[in-house]
Amino acid sequence: MNIVLIGAQGSGKGTQAKLLTQILQFSHVASGDLFRKALDEQTELGLRAKTYLEHGELVPDELTVAMVLECINLIDCCAGLLLDGFPRTIAQARLLDQHFTQMNRHIDLAIYLDVPSHELISRITGRLICHAQQHVYHAIKHPPKTPGICDIDGSELYQRTDDQDEAIKKRLEIFFRKTVYVLEYYKQQQKLVIINGDLDVQCVFANLFQFVKKLDSSYLFHNKEQRHFRAL
Ligand code: AMP
Repeated sequence: MNIVLIGAQGSGKGTQAKLLTQILQFSHVASGDLFRKALDEQTELGLRAKTYLEHGELVPDELTVAMVLECINLIDCCAGLLLDGFPRTIAQARLLDQHFTQMNRHIDLAIYLDVPSHELISRITGRLICHAQQHVYHAIKHPPKTPGICDIDGSELYQRTDDQDEAIKKRLEIFFRKTVYVLEYYKQQQKLVIINGDLDVQCVFANLFQFVKKLDSSYLFHNKEQRHFRAL
């Protein structure tokens, strides 16, 4: 099963993706994480993507698609695949479909986490992330016990450069302008579900998981984590 998770920055996409992949034992491919890793490691891809990332702009489709498809080809996605942050443009969605057709796969479900802009801005502005494992905090709504330090692994917290003022506005503006076409693309294929992302994490997850369960319950219940699903 292949799922696409779509949501603006601050929509809780990363958190929901982690919960979903843990429970389903799916492989998780997050395009933003791949770019940040490439940037940290100063690879050629990282250096080519650097300016776009810093300014909150979308990295050109040819670089993004090549990176994500290469990652999909390298990992084991037999149990299923969750794509997080990709596709973000209609061209990416089409190229993904073409690639999947060659692999005899297809997208089963596209989930959109819907959160109002004012809430997104408030979430992103206070967002703090730990260096070691990207655990997420919020300066006001979910502060760490010790300022600047991750409660879980003790690493330092930082604010992403693209989580600052102008970059935030630009990222959100680009998201709503371009991603609306991706939503329409999956809607036409009757694969789109819209989830209210403006609720607490567990409620959002429960709502989202109902759709995943409905999609192919026989598939899920054959998975080794079956007792988990029944408990939900
Ligand atoms: P994210 O962590 O998903 O917010 O992504 C961080 C940044 O990575 C974005 O602001 C873009 O610069 C870049 N990026 C991530 N995914 C994509 C994508 N599908 N297409 C183009 N750029 C992307």
